[in-house]
Amino acid sequence: MAGIETDFVVIGGGATGAGVLRDLAMRGLRAVLVERGDFASGTSGRYHGLLHSGARYVESDPVSARHCIEENAVLRRIAPGTIEPTGGYFVATPDDPDDYLERFPAACAAAGIEAEPMALADLFRAEPLLSREIRAAYRVPDAALEPWELVDANLASAREHGAEAHRYRPVVGFERNAEGAVTAVHTRDVRTGEEQTIACRAVISAAGAWAGKVAALAGATLHMSPGKGSMLILNRRMTAAVVNRLAPPGDGDILVPVHTVCILGTTDITITDPDDARVTRDEVEALLADGDRLVPGLSGARVLRAYAGSRPLYDAAELQGEAHHDESREISRAHHVIDHGARDGVGGLWSIVGGKLTTYRLMARDVDAVARALGTDAPCRTADEPLPEPAGHSPYWLGDRLAAIEAEGGGDADLVCECELVTRARLSSALDERADSSLDDLRRTTRLGMGPCQGAFCMPRAAAMLDERRAAGRLAPAAPDANAALRGFAAERFRGTRPIAWGDQLTELWLGAGMFRGVLGADRLPDASGATDAER
Ligand SMILES: Cc1cc2nc3c(=O)[nH]c(=O)nc-3n(C[C@H](O)[C@H](O)[C@H](O)COP(=O)(O)OP(=O)(O)OC[C@H]3O[C@@H](n4cnc5c(N)ncnc54)[C@H](O)[C@@H]3O)c2cc1C
Repeated sequence: MAGIETDFVVIGGGATGAGVLRDLAMRGLRAVLVERGDFASGTSGRYHGLLHSGARYVESDPVSARHCIEENAVLRRIAPGTIEPTGGYFVATPDDPDDYLERFPAACAAAGIEAEPMALADLFRAEPLLSREIRAAYRVPDAALEPWELVDANLASAREHGAEAHRYRPVVGFERNAEGAVTAVHTRDVRTGEEQTIACRAVISAAGAWAGKVAALAGATLHMSPGKGSMLILNRRMTAAVVNRLAPPGDGDILVPVHTVCILGTTDITITDPDDARVTRDEVEALLADGDRLVPGLSGARVLRAYAGSRPLYDAAELQGEAHHDESREISRAHHVIDHGARDGVGGLWSIVGGKLTTYRLMARDVDAVARALGTDAPCRTADEPLPEPAGHSPYWLGDRLAAIEAEGGGDADLVCECELVTRARLSSALDERADSSLDDLRRTTRLGMGPCQGAFCMPRAAAMLDERRAAGRLAPAAPDANAALRGFAAERFRGTRPIAWGDQLTELWLGAGMFRGVLGADRLPDASGATDAER
């Protein structure tokens, strides 16, 4: 078993873990991050896409509202390339309560959020598809936030400051000394089976909704209350800005324009296992009905896929000796740093839980207490130093990609994914950056297969590229073989189209499944060991 040594191990490669890694590294501390899947493949890659102004929480959760507006300003300064400054509206439909509408401006002012009343004529000019039944509107500084690039930028900055980050390396166990303090973590590479021990002075678990499971591995107790949220991706932008219902947080009350699509969400259902975040048909129908209240006719629009994430909610009621909340919407979105040494006798282990993606940097800043416990008083600098700019233009429009392709020779462009205009050159450079990528990893960095056909045409072409690279010795040994990558990608794409399988999308699904099963026989392809599905 290979071994390394560091000051800190950070568990979890979502926004919080990546932010913690950067924060520690910028304080001059040695830190290693391990993530069980791809970076930002947990909740950070399965969220709503919204850089909150905080206005959603002004009444229900004022602490979180204040955190959101403060971090909203910080992220616009340090990570402008990951944000599309769409702006946002809070709009009152006839179903939304009058008293909430009356209290909203004062609550925003108290939280430090600028909420500017808007004439309805101006609103409908800016957003012609919105319901004419809307009776009041406020403009707020919401925006769209690209999670994968934000996480990548934090990891890149952390690496520049000497940190390491490894994906597909879940923590599978801990070593503790006679006093019960953590002295090392054990990880296992899920693709190669290689085991590793990382000796450390402290561990920070930023495992989000999985933080309870990680704490249990170390012998500590952490009662997480994951709240499942389901969302729908519609095949075009229905609004130019983020639109929220002017009401206490509920289902299907936010529409976020993201790149070429928009996302309608979310539900909020308490689940026991964060891995069990599957979208049901009932949720899809309820979301579409809610969407119609904002944009009449939305339920007849083309839905590309449905997906769900698990909120990393920690019910702090137990800290006050109170009973846990039954509903996840009742749990505060504020974050908590839990010292398992003081609480459970597991020294050297801290969990950072709760919060929003918008507040990830603030959560990471709270490693202050941990750093001090280890004798370092270097201050947090993450709000002062900008993050590295994303390599591609972000936010992107298909028009921008088309212009870039035409500038390089137009019709000769070698397109792999027609829906999202992903060229062979773009995929090659993504593989140069991470030679151990699966097709699904490439999707996160390039948007491969994210368009209307959900990978039906680009999947085989991209898999062929992986195969060519493997033959040329240009793939990392841990990378899945082309057949496994193809099957993994298809399984993931079908997971998101199954709950919305009707109308045009059902036709598209038949086409994709026909190509995948009928033409390619991909479900019967052997893996690297020569075994087929029937034999596996
Ligand atoms: C439906 C929904 C919509 C949301 N919308 C918004 C929004 O619009 N705006 C906003 O600001 N916030 C939003 N949030 C909240 C936000 O997404 C989360 O607060 C944030 O992404 C959490 O980041 P994280 O890094 O703490 O957790 P995660 O991103 O989940 O990261 C934790 C990581 O730990 C890894 N892990 C687990 N176990 C192990 C192990 N044993 N070893 C190694 N790694 C492990 C997981 O694979 C995961 O990648 C939303 C959440 C949900 C569910």
